[in-house]
Amino acid sequence: MGKQSTKRSQRVLLIPGPFQGHITPMLELGTTLHSKGFSITVAHTIFNSPNPSNHPDFVFLPLSDNLSGADISSRSLIALMKTINTNCQVPLRESLAQIMENPEPYDQVVCIIYDTIMPFAEAVANHLQLPSIILRTNSVSATIAYESLPRLQAAGYIPLQDYMLQDLVPGLQPLRFKDLPISKFGTLKESLEMIADISHIGTSSAIIWNSVDCLEPSALAQLKQHSQVPLFTIGPLHKMAPASSTSLIREDTNCTAWLDKQAPDSVIYVSLGSLALMDEKELAETAWGLANSGQPFLWVVRPGSVHGSEWIENLPEGFKEAIEQKGHIVKWAPQREVLSHGAVGVFWSHCGWNSTLESICEGVPMICKPYSGDQKVNARYLTEVWKVGLPLEGVLERGEIERAIRRLLVDKEGEEMRQRATDMREKLKLSLKRDGSSNNSLNDLTEFILSLQL
Ligand code: UDP
Repeated sequence: MGKQSTKRSQRVLLIPGPFQGHITPMLELGTTLHSKGFSITVAHTIFNSPNPSNHPDFVFLPLSDNLSGADISSRSLIALMKTINTNCQVPLRESLAQIMENPEPYDQVVCIIYDTIMPFAEAVANHLQLPSIILRTNSVSATIAYESLPRLQAAGYIPLQDYMLQDLVPGLQPLRFKDLPISKFGTLKESLEMIADISHIGTSSAIIWNSVDCLEPSALAQLKQHSQVPLFTIGPLHKMAPASSTSLIREDTNCTAWLDKQAPDSVIYVSLGSLALMDEKELAETAWGLANSGQPFLWVVRPGSVHGSEWIENLPEGFKEAIEQKGHIVKWAPQREVLSHGAVGVFWSHCGWNSTLESICEGVPMICKPYSGDQKVNARYLTEVWKVGLPLEGVLERGEIERAIRRLLVDKEGEEMRQRATDMREKLKLSLKRDGSSNNSLNDLTEFILSLQL
C-alpha cells in the first residue's frame, strides 16, 4: 500500500463503538485510510476510551457520554448502547459543527464513518450535511442472520421453542435456530429493537465490512443483490494496517517467553474475548478439562469474567499443580502475537468475529464455544462451512473438553483441520496482495470517499 500524500487534505471522522471488538477494527480502518492519504479524527465515548498515545497520527475527540457508574455496571449492554446513542448526539453535533466552521486549510471533514452500533452519528451527519458510511464489525453472514430476525418473528419462529433448536432455519442454511444471533445481553424485545436500529441504513452512502470475499461469497452475493448502496469488503483489517496496540486492557507480554519453551503446535490457547462471562462451575470444568488433556495451555481469565470471583482465587485446589506443570494463566494476552506463535496448535474461543479472523489468518484451528449474538453464527461457519473448528455444545463438561483438545492436538483429525486452516490462511493472504479482492475493494473505497465531496 503506497502512501498518497496528495490526499492528506481530506479528513475522515471515525466513530467507533465503545467495546474492544468494535474499537479495534475501527482504529485499524483509520490506520488503513491514513496510509491512503486521509487525515483521521476519532470521536469516541469517555467510557472505554481508546489510548491516543498509541495513535500519534490521529486526532482524538472525546464525546461527553454522561454515563453514570450505574449505567455501566447494572444495565444490559443493549440498554447501555441506547443511552450512549442518546447522550452523545448533541456533543458530537456541537464539536463537529465547530470543527467545520473553522477548518484548517486543506483539511475538510469529507465524511463520517460510524460503527453500526452508533447510529446517532447518521442523524448528526444529516444535520451537518455530511455523507456517512457504516462500518460493520461482524461477518456478512451474521448481518444477514440479524436482518432475518424480524422476518422469522413475523413467521412465528421467534421466540424460539426448545423443540426446534436443532432444525435448520429456512433460507439461512447452514444455521440452525440455536445459531441465530439473539443476544444474551438484553430481553428479546430489546434485542429486536436494537437489530432494527443497526440494520437501518437510512441515508448512509455505503457499508464497509471487515471480511473477505473468499470467506463468505454466497452471503455477499445475496446482500449485493438487494443492496441500494456500494458494499466494500476490505478485511482482515488487522492485516491491512500496520500493527499498533488497540487494547483497552494492559497485555501481559510475559506469556510469549512461556510459549517459547513449548513444542511446536502443542499449546491450547483459551480466551473468551472482552465481554463473555462464565460461572464458577464452568471455570472448574474448564480447568479440569485443560489439566486432564495433558497438553500445555495458555489461558486468559479476564478479571471480573467469572461470576462471584475477582479473578482465579476460586480455581479448584488440585488444579494449581497442573498450572505449575503445564499451564500459564494471564489476565489479558497479546492475542495476535500468541496466535502467530509456532507453539500454539489450537485456539479455544468464544468465536467473536475479530478472534475468528485472527485465528484463521494464522492458520490455527479452533474449538468453538460461542456465548452470544453473532458468535453463534461464526461458530457454525467455522465448524460446518470452513471446517476449521470443532464445536463444544451444551453444558461445559470436563470430559468433552479433554476429548475436543485431544482430537485437535493429538489425533489425525487435528492434522487435517490444521491443513485446511493453513490453506485458508494462504487464501486470505492472496486477498491482500496487489490484485487481491480486499486490496481492490480498499482502492475502490478510497475513490468512493474522494468522490463524496465532488
Ligand atoms: N484480545 C486480546 N487479548 C486477550 C483476549 C482478546 O487482545 O487476552 C483481543 C482479540 O485479539 C480481539 C478482541 O480482543 O481482537 C476481541 O474481539 P472479538 O470480536 O473476538 O470478541 P469480543 O470481545 O467483541 O466478544
